[in-house]
Amino acid sequence: MSVGENPVVTPGSLESASMSTWTTQLTTLEQRAAEHEKFSQSLISNLAQPLQILATRTEELRKLHTDYAAKLEKERDSSFGDLRKMKAKYDSVCQEVENRRKKVDSSFDYAKQKAQVAYQQHLSEMHNVKNTYIISINVTNAQKSLYYHNYVPELLDSLQDLNETRVSKLNAIWSLAAQIETSTLTRSTEYMNHLSNEILRNRPNLDSMMYSRHNATNWQEPPNVAFEASPVWLDESSLAVDDVAKNFLRNVLTKSKGALSQLKKEEATRRREVEGARIVRQKIRDGKDKKDEVEIVRTIFDLQTTLHETERQKTTAEVEIKTITQAVGDVSIGARNHNFKSETFKIPTNCDHCGERIWGLSAKGFSCKDCGFTCHNKCEMKIPAECPGEQTKEEKKKLKLERQEAAHVANSTPNGQGDGIAELPAITRSDTMNTLSSGYSANARRSISGSTLLPSPSELDDSPKPAPAPARRNRIVAPPPAQYISDIGANGSSSDLANAGQQRGKMLYPYQQNGEGEITVDEGKEVVILDPDGESHFQSSSPLSLT
Ligand SMILES: [Zn+2]
Ligand SMILES: [Zn+2]
Repeated sequence: MSVGENPVVTPGSLESASMSTWTTQLTTLEQRAAEHEKFSQSLISNLAQPLQILATRTEELRKLHTDYAAKLEKERDSSFGDLRKMKAKYDSVCQEVENRRKKVDSSFDYAKQKAQVAYQQHLSEMHNVKNTYIISINVTNAQKSLYYHNYVPELLDSLQDLNETRVSKLNAIWSLAAQIETSTLTRSTEYMNHLSNEILRNRPNLDSMMYSRHNATNWQEPPNVAFEASPVWLDESSLAVDDVAKNFLRNVLTKSKGALSQLKKEEATRRREVEGARIVRQKIRDGKDKKDEVEIVRTIFDLQTTLHETERQKTTAEVEIKTITQAVGDVSIGARNHNFKSETFKIPTNCDHCGERIWGLSAKGFSCKDCGFTCHNKCEMKIPAECPGEQTKEEKKKLKLERQEAAHVANSTPNGQGDGIAELPAITRSDTMNTLSSGYSANARRSISGSTLLPSPSELDDSPKPAPAPARRNRIVAPPPAQYISDIGANGSSSDLANAGQQRGKMLYPYQQNGEGEITVDEGKEVVILDPDGESHFQSSSPLSLT
């Protein structure tokens, strides 16, 4: 996360901003867990245990009250019971008095006297019992009044007190519980607030900075590629600008120019799209747009790859145009290009450029919609821009004959060597031309992929025969020495020398000294051939072009 797996610089610490932020999150989580632990301990020691103690104590007190109420009730009942007994005693004593009085009434003489005494005794006794009874009534009434007006209300008051004390204690515990939980939440909120601030400090560019600081390596842009002459063909780095080469360059220029204006428009559109998407992304970051930022990043990426493709094609077209224009000027101006369209020839057709048959399973090539010029795919880029414009059927027929004739004449060399030249190592201007042509096609395919302007590689290869050399050979730079010498021994002008066993020759072209071991020779100068140009240089057994 911090510096990647293979940092260039050994990091002092692996703590990237995101790692620090993550550590803060873990610490916060631990702090909050500790906070919860503390809270649970508080619940047990400050709430649950006091609650249990309170319950036990109030329950004990309540039971004492119950017991006391029962005792008071028993006292009250026994007091009434005693009174009832006293009343019964009083009643029975009264009965005894009455019995004694009746005995007095029914007895005579001595017995009557005796009965009289007994009666008197019982009456006194009865008075005492009666007084005791009346006193008892007063006592019981007083006790009853106390029971109902003092004892029971006091007991109820006490119970009420007990209950209110209980509730008040419970409230205190409950308040404490709320307070403990509030402080737990407050501390947790503080931790979370701190964390939120820490997350804000993790600016997205910090990780990138740390990563790039530890992974930046030195790299060097490779130098520009320069032209390297072929080891067998001495050449220079400027474009070939003879008429045949110009045809090719004109065709390239025309196509590149046509593509460029379209590509420029396309590039501008793509660039605007990328800019637009970038603005949307900034708005999302500023909180002014609710779109998904990742989706926009993906859109920008897609748009940029498309822009890149267009830019690449545009640059290729621009450089092609610039390079050609610098070398030969804008040769596309005034050019009468054929109105070529790709075609599959159903009847045997010859190429109007090289005169060869257009071969292949599907004989593909181009034909001009206006004048009827037909050619190979591979020949298309060599066709001069000389379209005569729209032609009638008869005119087209006539043109075809003329063109075929011209193609066949051009195809045979002035020396009448014909096809032989194609089999030689063929060090002619036309071959460098071919090389350039195929090179162009390959480049073009890469740079303007998908364009219908150009034939596909398979179309380029539809001919089984090697391409014959075009007619004109404008030598600009040196062909190998053998091409320079005229064998004067053959026309007999120096027969004596030839007879002397020396082979002689005449310079057909001037030769410019090109390095060590070479000399400059003028045109027409006679030379002695010391060592015939070795046949080992040539793969063909055809005679050298010595005339
Ligand atoms: Zn044409
Ligand atoms: Zn052709």
